[in-house]
Amino acid sequence: MISDRVRVRFAPSPTGYLHVGGLRTALYNYLFAKKNNGSFILRIEDTDRARFVEGAVENLIDTLKWSGLTIDEGPGNEGAYGPYTQSERLSIYQEQTQKLIDSGNAYYCFCSKQRLEEMREERKEQGAQPVYDKHCLHLSKDQIKSNIDSGLPYVIRLNVKPGEKIYVNDLIRGNIEFDSSTVDDQVLMKSDGYPTYHLANVVDDHLMKITHVIRGEEWLPSTPKHVLLYKFFGWEIPGFAHLPLLLNPDRTKLSKRQGDVAVEDYRSKGYLKEALINFVALLGWNAGDDREFYYLSELVENFSLERVNKAGAVFNLEKLDWLNAEHLRAKDNADLLKLLRNELKINPEVEDDFTDEYLVQVIEAMRERVKFVKEIVDTGIYFFTPPVNYDEASVAKNWKSDSAVNLSLLNEKIAELENPVKDDFENALRHAAVELSTGAGKIIHPLRIALSGVSGGPGVFDIAYILGKEECMRRIKRAIDKLG
Ligand code: GLU
Repeated sequence: MISDRVRVRFAPSPTGYLHVGGLRTALYNYLFAKKNNGSFILRIEDTDRARFVEGAVENLIDTLKWSGLTIDEGPGNEGAYGPYTQSERLSIYQEQTQKLIDSGNAYYCFCSKQRLEEMREERKEQGAQPVYDKHCLHLSKDQIKSNIDSGLPYVIRLNVKPGEKIYVNDLIRGNIEFDSSTVDDQVLMKSDGYPTYHLANVVDDHLMKITHVIRGEEWLPSTPKHVLLYKFFGWEIPGFAHLPLLLNPDRTKLSKRQGDVAVEDYRSKGYLKEALINFVALLGWNAGDDREFYYLSELVENFSLERVNKAGAVFNLEKLDWLNAEHLRAKDNADLLKLLRNELKINPEVEDDFTDEYLVQVIEAMRERVKFVKEIVDTGIYFFTPPVNYDEASVAKNWKSDSAVNLSLLNEKIAELENPVKDDFENALRHAAVELSTGAGKIIHPLRIALSGVSGGPGVFDIAYILGKEECMRRIKRAIDKLG
């Protein structure tokens, strides 16, 4: 009996990075599990030894952890159905394969690569399906034994009976009919003793009591093989839900060539996990209204497989950027402070010896102006280190022959201030302007250059207040010396 509690799994093959499509699959599984008080399981499908990548599993687990999709069972968090890494389950697959051989639903195949190629070519020429011709199906027990004894390499194949209908009942796509004549006698066990994806996947989904298989559309063509395996084993078939493809804006399949596909890339570019999760949730699902901003907990409340689309979902980076800005704005200062400290830590230009109060002021001045926490450091670098150079265009436009004199007087006024607040800096500047019989604007722009090195950014008196009296005076003096 399949579990009466929802149990779903994310079953990635560790290829070296977590694809955004993989994150979407993981997320939908997670949402479905949490919505139904079920379990979310991580299983590592690493039976393709040719594609083994050192460190890939660790990286995958780390990236999933970062995304906030907490795993109920998986490697390093063993539940009752482990191990959760397929390469540690080889004896299980061998045992199950033997059952299929004994029941006549699987058989030994000793065909060489060359024979297989020739056979497929021939079949193609004859206009037949390029499936295996069952050449080895009728080998006698003795022949099989003598082949094995003489060391001939072999695989184990699924024995598909042609001319039958196979039905896949998909929760998103409805009932889909396949003709078994188009289904290959799939290799289940490879000559290296490792199972193929198909066998290991079905065996594990059964033994791990998976109730719903939620995965990408690219696995739909494999599903008839899986359905046959369930039948041959005499096991209950789980629910299937195949998620729509992810597309580039030109509606071709999402590819590396048109942009980043690794979650790690988005992470290192400074995207917030909240924004990325919100974004991938909307790749193929909506709640039936035009709401777009969600936290993970709200996605859990609202998610349903019925509202997942069949049509491919376009990967729109502009929306991701927009969501990032929205999530950033919605964050409280304490959260942003942590993120900002992380950014400062990795920035070689900056020594992070700032107090929390100081950084919170910077955050408040900058949060409405940026889409990324990283941008607070990049565009507001002057909050963290005095300008070394002054932006040439700003200087050409706003640093005039009288700027040095004007700023000198301003510096004298600032020197007289005691514990100045923002308004005090402004008053000091206005007094200086009156004394110099000039407009305040004539001093404001050079002041901004002196303090920040650039034009733009928060209000100049906000910058002055945040930097504080002494630092302002130092910077003004330095600009006068350098720019004259
Ligand atoms: N290991 C497969 C993958 O890498 C899993 C497919 C499935 O979920 O059945 O996507």
